[in-house]
Amino acid sequence: MAMEIYVWKGDITSVQTDAVVNAANSSLGGGGGVDGAIHRIGGPKIAEECRILKIKKYPNGLPTGQCVLTSGGQLPSKYVIHAVGPVWKGGEYWEASLLETCYKNILQLSFERAFESVAVPSISTGIFAYPKELAAPIAIKTVLEHKGQFPRKLIFVCFDQETKDLYEEILNKSGTEYKEGISSF
Ligand code: ADP
Repeated sequence: MAMEIYVWKGDITSVQTDAVVNAANSSLGGGGGVDGAIHRIGGPKIAEECRILKIKKYPNGLPTGQCVLTSGGQLPSKYVIHAVGPVWKGGEYWEASLLETCYKNILQLSFERAFESVAVPSISTGIFAYPKELAAPIAIKTVLEHKGQFPRKLIFVCFDQETKDLYEEILNKSGTEYKEGISSF
């Protein structure tokens, strides 16, 4: 069965899925943007799980491109996949391949956990300053190339209309069917 693609505009903390992806940073210590919102709405349990993961497994930080799982705390979603995207440094520091690796690892983890639905923001395009128009094709291409049976539903969460238009344009150009969704997947 082919993966269903959704493009949904809104705040990722209000989405109900098996897992939402956090645009985290290496320290797993919280931050702004998606990270700030997830910890604010998800409550202290997520931060505590991140703190323990950091001490036990990632004392030097979670490397760029990697991801780890915690519970969803008080979020409507069951789990959070904390993924570290690359910081944009002009494009000559393997940013594109690191962003692709990041999405691949999210998909691999979702496959291993047999998640039905996974919501992912536009990783790296906020505080990490990756140009949206360069990040969106990588996000979409990597998702469309994923071969696993899970996740069955992949929701691209777009925080603003510009990002949503961009995702829809790329999906339309590639002839990929997608749906809008209603926050519960
Ligand atoms: P990064 O540090 O990886 O750049 P950010 O969280 O700063 O991560 O931003 C990633 C993208 O997520 C940006 O396009 C930003 O506009 C968007 N974003 C910010 N807050 C939210 C939110 N609550 N829900 C969904 N997307 C968000």
